[in-house]
Amino acid sequence: MTGSRPAVPFTADDYRARMERAARAAADAGLAGLLVAPGPDLVWLTGYAPTADTERLTLLVLAPGRDPVLVVPTLEAPDAGKAAGAPALTLRDWTDGKDPYAATAALLDGSGRFGISDNAWAMHLLALQRTLPGTSYASLTEALPMLRAVKDTAELELLAAAGAAADAAFEEVRKVRFGGRRESEVAADLAGLLRRFGHSQVDFTIVASGPNGANPHHEAGDRVIEDGDMIVLDFGGLKDGYGSDTSRTVHVGEPTDEERRVHDLVREAQEAGFRAVRPGAACQDVDRAARAVIADAGYGEYFIHRTGHGIGVTTHEPPYMIEGEEQPLEPGMCFSVEPGVYLPGRFGVRIEDIVTVTEDGGRRFNDTTRELVLVE
Ligand code: ZN
Ligand code: ZN
Ligand code: ZN
Repeated sequence: MTGSRPAVPFTADDYRARMERAARAAADAGLAGLLVAPGPDLVWLTGYAPTADTERLTLLVLAPGRDPVLVVPTLEAPDAGKAAGAPALTLRDWTDGKDPYAATAALLDGSGRFGISDNAWAMHLLALQRTLPGTSYASLTEALPMLRAVKDTAELELLAAAGAAADAAFEEVRKVRFGGRRESEVAADLAGLLRRFGHSQVDFTIVASGPNGANPHHEAGDRVIEDGDMIVLDFGGLKDGYGSDTSRTVHVGEPTDEERRVHDLVREAQEAGFRAVRPGAACQDVDRAARAVIADAGYGEYFIHRTGHGIGVTTHEPPYMIEGEEQPLEPGMCFSVEPGVYLPGRFGVRIEDIVTVTEDGGRRFNDTTRELVLVE
């Protein structure tokens, strides 16, 4: 997490409603409550991001029918009190030398099962288990995967603005020189552009040229880009607290017929995935629609990852567009549609847009051209 506090348009009432919704969802899932450590869930529920995630315990305790309590170190309490959601919280501060786990345990049902945020420190969970041996714990993301999945109107506007900023970065980066420069130099251009267009945090700037493009995990390295290279660009981060993530594949100079054919194929697959987005469709239907296009063309074995992932206050979260995920799509969900083809030792192509589910279909938050862009 960064300590920067973007000016989000959410009020204490918005955070109160989110915390109530979360406590209700916990009860419906058979949990006695939720324990939320600093990280994306805490930001979403309270607007609070400590300037540093230290070893001192900070923990939001949500239990059905009880007021939310934030257990917080005394020295952090003034800062926590300034968070937008603070008026909807009771702060319970603890000073060095006192036992924060005893203070937390006093708020908990000693025989309950609790959802705990995935990024809580193990030392805190182990201490809670020692203090309350009758309690048990579940991963918050596994217990309530859809907690943050449906975005409200203000969140959708922030995600749309983040997408537009990433698109603006692409429109600029396609004009820079690629040939003869290192991937890492183009990646630095991309990071600078994301910041210039309002991102406070850059999460990734993948520049995967030539054979590196066949490795979906390649970030950016020392390889010097050559004339004739296909280049996968995949970049994003956070703008005003909400994520962007888009991929386009560009080519230095004139492409071969095969390069054009594979790029067209991925574009068709991306379009098919997008067209499968509508309320009531299952997440796996989006994956299947995109994958079928690539498989039918004989490239199925070269599409080696899921079709998409959710996005919100993080750039990767549920829901996942993957075979076996039967979660129905609902209006307001936001996720990527990003099929790819990766030909080992040769090149790769990926095209990615963030899409939101509307009342009757899908709407893209990225809209730069999906045709193959030729760069210098
Ligand atoms: Zn080429
Ligand atoms: Zn991406
Ligand atoms: Zn993505």
